Amino acid sequence: METGGNSLPSGPDGVKRRVCYFYDPEVGNYYYGQGHPMKPHRIRMTHSLLSHYGLLQSMTVLKPFPARDRDLCRFHADDYVSFLRAITPETQTDQLRALKRFNVGEDCPVFDGLYSFCQTYAGGSVGGAVKLNHGSDIAINWAGGLHHAKKCEASGFCYVNDIVLAILELLKQHERVLYVDIDIHHGDGVEEAFYTTDRVMTVSFHKFGDYFPGTGDIRDIGYNKGKYYSLNVPLDDGIDDESYQSLFKPIIGKVMEVFRPGAVVLQCGADSLSGDRLGCFNLSIKGHAECVRYMRSFNVPLLLLGGGGYTIRNVARCWCYETGVALGVEIDDKMPPHEYYEYFGPDYTLHVAPSNMENKNTRESIEEIRNKLLENLSKLQHAPSVQFHERPPDTELPEVDDDQEDPDERLEHASDMDIDDLKHQDEFSRKPISNTRVKKEIVEPELKDQESQKGAAEHAKGQEAVAVEISFSKAPDGGPTMNDEMGEHDSTNNFPDPSHHTK
Ligand SMILES: [Zn+2]
Repeated sequence: METGGNSLPSGPDGVKRRVCYFYDPEVGNYYYGQGHPMKPHRIRMTHSLLSHYGLLQSMTVLKPFPARDRDLCRFHADDYVSFLRAITPETQTDQLRALKRFNVGEDCPVFDGLYSFCQTYAGGSVGGAVKLNHGSDIAINWAGGLHHAKKCEASGFCYVNDIVLAILELLKQHERVLYVDIDIHHGDGVEEAFYTTDRVMTVSFHKFGDYFPGTGDIRDIGYNKGKYYSLNVPLDDGIDDESYQSLFKPIIGKVMEVFRPGAVVLQCGADSLSGDRLGCFNLSIKGHAECVRYMRSFNVPLLLLGGGGYTIRNVARCWCYETGVALGVEIDDKMPPHEYYEYFGPDYTLHVAPSNMENKNTRESIEEIRNKLLENLSKLQHAPSVQFHERPPDTELPEVDDDQEDPDERLEHASDMDIDDLKHQDEFSRKPISNTRVKKEIVEPELKDQESQKGAAEHAKGQEAVAVEISFSKAPDGGPTMNDEMGEHDSTNNFPDPSHHTK
């Protein structure tokens, strides 16, 4: 399989990247409940593999600051956030109406520590975006990527949409942000949030047809200013590495060429791997990771997030391997012994062979999808409204010595942005900027411009959460015992499976 492939003048692929990795040792302790396929424990398994493969030394390891209410409210409704903060397993029986209203209770159960879980995974993604805004090349938060959450509703095991929050953070520094989603499920929450803007392009590759969440038709392309800025790649069961890449590379290559994002967010949901408990694709870990490798080759600031993934030993394998890809190292197939080693028998290898299942995606259907999407992209390329505005380079920040970082230090920002500001920001970002590299600008009426600047100033709050650096010599212990988890992760028949409408 070819590995390179960037068509942008962004420098050689061999260049080392500054990678920061967000991990909270508590995250593996959150528990959705017996029989629930979503297991935060897989994040701790991933971390343990990273530690024993010796990859932590090559990255800045950061413990995220928990996202605060006001961080979450940049996308989510106040009453929804208040509800998430207040609800507990003990009080939920008194809250039946609210549970129903916010779609909490079944696929998205109330469990102990639910709100701090949300704060933790969202804190990692927003923190990653802040790091990219301040000069990191790649930021990783495997606990994030919960792409189904809506403004005032939980969905598909997701409560708050850390991806939308991270993209809003990136939009403070970047005129355009690209979102790519390789989870087997449609990235509906992120698509919906940015459906009417041309500043965020969303591209989702997913199983389509009688499958959760049901959205993601190839004909859904965005609306209004956002028309042609949403791309959906509908796929059928059993897709293999070759078919997948024959879509991923030409489409993403074209997107990079015509959209020219300042930053990219890649949701690496691992339920698109072969043998996933809820999935039906047939990708190998290398095939999945090829998306990371290709995205990385463009040398654009890259946020790597987790997502779905329900055969947890393969999730840990995949995200560990992809961390290696981010660092530019090929890690050994033979696994080092570690506390979760027993999960990986009988071979104890990183890679597992895909299955012999039928690939229902024919050569013709793949070609048809590719042609249709490339055609849509060419419309974007030639649309008169699309005159991309390059912003001047960001002001150089003093190098932050991560070892010296004060745990209480929070990086400052000139302005805050929430989802409702996007329209204003569109206008704000189009004010004329004098820079020789700047192309022709669309100049907005002066009044609007002043209003939006005023709006941005009013929203200024100056304090943002980033992270506390922590160092790990080995993965911390704790949480559900391995046997407890192992009893569940392989069996698919001895408990009610919510997969009939999930993620
Ligand atoms: Zn999924």
